[in-house]
Amino acid sequence: MRDTKYMRTALRLAQRGIGSVEPNPAVGAVIVKANQIIGRGWHKKFGDPHAEINAIEDCKTLGSNPQSAVMYVTLEPCSHQGKTAPCTEAIIAAGLTKVVVAALDPSEHASGKGIEQLRNAGIKVETGLCEKEAKLINAPFIKFAATGRCWTVLKWAQTIDGKMAQADNTQGHQWISNQLSRKDVHKLRQRVGAILVGINTVIADDPLLTARPDKGKKLIRVVLDSNLQIPLDCKLLATAKEAPLLIVASQQAHQANPQLVEEITQTGAEVLVCPDAQGQSNLPFVLDELSKRRIAQLLVEGGPTVISSFLKENLADEICVYISPKILGGSGSVDISGPMAQLTAGFSLHHVVLKPFGDDVRITGLTKGALSELGL
Ligand SMILES: [Zn+2]
Repeated sequence: MRDTKYMRTALRLAQRGIGSVEPNPAVGAVIVKANQIIGRGWHKKFGDPHAEINAIEDCKTLGSNPQSAVMYVTLEPCSHQGKTAPCTEAIIAAGLTKVVVAALDPSEHASGKGIEQLRNAGIKVETGLCEKEAKLINAPFIKFAATGRCWTVLKWAQTIDGKMAQADNTQGHQWISNQLSRKDVHKLRQRVGAILVGINTVIADDPLLTARPDKGKKLIRVVLDSNLQIPLDCKLLATAKEAPLLIVASQQAHQANPQLVEEITQTGAEVLVCPDAQGQSNLPFVLDELSKRRIAQLLVEGGPTVISSFLKENLADEICVYISPKILGGSGSVDISGPMAQLTAGFSLHHVVLKPFGDDVRITGLTKGALSELGL
């Protein structure tokens, strides 16, 4: 019971790092001696010390000695030299006698090596406590480390009647979701390495697709643009030198428009030629390409067609929907239910979390495919 309580504290600490530590995992650790927590730590920011080091330092700051204490840590401690020295060495040096680990790190350079090193040093190691919760916190990291393929999040905002936009767009862009929801979307963007939209979204909304604040991270912005229809005066191309931009075009469009490709490339954007899949964008190819570029997490912010394509091909891991308490009826457009009707079978989400943002409600959940990738 007490073990679970300590690990839950470590899990809560871990969550504080989400949005700042990626592509690293979010990790938390607590150090316990004589049934008292004597140190807490979490990985705060990519490149900064890991949770274990921060917890050991916290003991020292609070004037306690971690010698002979127990550490509860949400992920297997690292044993390799990365941006920081291995955590296993620090744990051994601090004289801890036992380490309780929630989930193993499936990365090639880890996968049990950290635990082995601790055991070789005479430290007792237990694994698997709150493993499911720990895996869910770091689901994108665990999938990418285990499979080399990026975690895909589909995000959209809709009204109660399934509309994603106002029919009359003459007065400029009118948002479906409220300001609080839109602020939350920026937190989601801070988590991921790339954002993807379809060309229709670019033409309709002229988005910038950056995270604000960007926390020093440059997202790769991806546009599915089979026929190379991207407007040369759009904001994405105007900012291509500031943040990476990848235009995914079909081979046919690429060959037919050499001058346009040249103009796009000159803005600083990259045109990625995609092998055709019956006139549709070849999504597995795009995901492979992003994974090769070490993108562990992709956010899809497209319209109904792009979203439905990902669902149809079972390529979504997580779904995040903001529902606004409005019925637009005839004054609404871009209906999510149309393209969704092409899905041959419906499905339910797992590990669902509901969260209100003012009057809006956010529903997040994982697909069945995601669960099997995580071994849950
Ligand atoms: Zn570490």
